[in-house]
Amino acid sequence: MKVFHSPASLLHAPVTYFRRGKAIPHLEQPARYELLLNAAFTAGHDIELAGVFGIEPIQKVHSSRYLSFLKEAWDRRSEIEPGLEHILPSHFKRPEMDQYPKHIIGQVGFHMADLSTPIHERTYEAVMASSDIALSAAKHAIAHGHAYGLCRPPGHHASVESAGGFCFINNTAVAAAYMRDTLNCRVGVIDIDVHHGNGTQNVFYSNEDVVTVSIHADPSNFMPYYAGYADETGVSAGLGYNLNLPLPHGSGDQIYLNAIAYALEFCQRQGVEALVVALGLDASEEDPNGALAVTTRGFFACGQLLGSTKWPTTLVQEGGYLSEILGENLKAVLGGFDSSRGSLAG
Ligand SMILES: [Zn+2]
Repeated sequence: MKVFHSPASLLHAPVTYFRRGKAIPHLEQPARYELLLNAAFTAGHDIELAGVFGIEPIQKVHSSRYLSFLKEAWDRRSEIEPGLEHILPSHFKRPEMDQYPKHIIGQVGFHMADLSTPIHERTYEAVMASSDIALSAAKHAIAHGHAYGLCRPPGHHASVESAGGFCFINNTAVAAAYMRDTLNCRVGVIDIDVHHGNGTQNVFYSNEDVVTVSIHADPSNFMPYYAGYADETGVSAGLGYNLNLPLPHGSGDQIYLNAIAYALEFCQRQGVEALVVALGLDASEEDPNGALAVTTRGFFACGQLLGSTKWPTTLVQEGGYLSEILGENLKAVLGGFDSSRGSLAG
């Protein structure tokens, strides 16, 4: 398996965030990048630095005012307060009050969904590199069948106009739009992260050219709380092209794998010809999120299933947090995928 990465992933290092009302050490640590890269290397995969794609493919997914905000926020920090260590909101826009304010502090709350996405001095470089990693993998998958992008920070909670859930640029959505536009075909996204891919759903909710499926822990008592339910099926031209498969908390391998098999059937029925996998590994039994109980053996079977089609497939790293078996779980998914496709094919 070709593995794309960038050391710029290390440039974003958040310290704390709020989970269930309490400030705790941030889960989305630079050490994730090092651990996952080391796992891919020791498993013998073909490691390559990501290329540079610029802003244009990202503009297919995010609004121009959001991208300008991400680019300029750090340099405008003194408008909030001199000496700020990071930029975070103090207020949030709501559906009933959503005018766009001129001042940067108002824009921060407009463009952030929660307190987990602080902007630091080099956050913009890190999130642009993360998008480049996904695009490099998508480009390789189009030419050679499949590839894995070791993206950090993750992306699937980032919507058209907002960061949230550790995510800034929706790398999965950027890769899906790139595959759609390059191959001129309908693309499927299968999100197997333990959290609902609310950002990706938001980006493509009214589209029929990208089918979005998310398999995740029931959001009624789990982030992102306000989306991820089975009755969200798309709107206008996108009606019928969004599928949410919320699973009972504590579900293990069999339920998870059945959902992935069903997601693949759904994509097949909807005429998908290329695939992006939002590869969260936080459904693991050892993940600090603790909502699902997928084993390393289950992740191998998951990789086998995801590799069982003939579609060009881009695997995009999403969540999955530090544990004893995080690296083993990545090896399992990539190994399972390669066992279905044949490792020489890509
Ligand atoms: Zn997650």
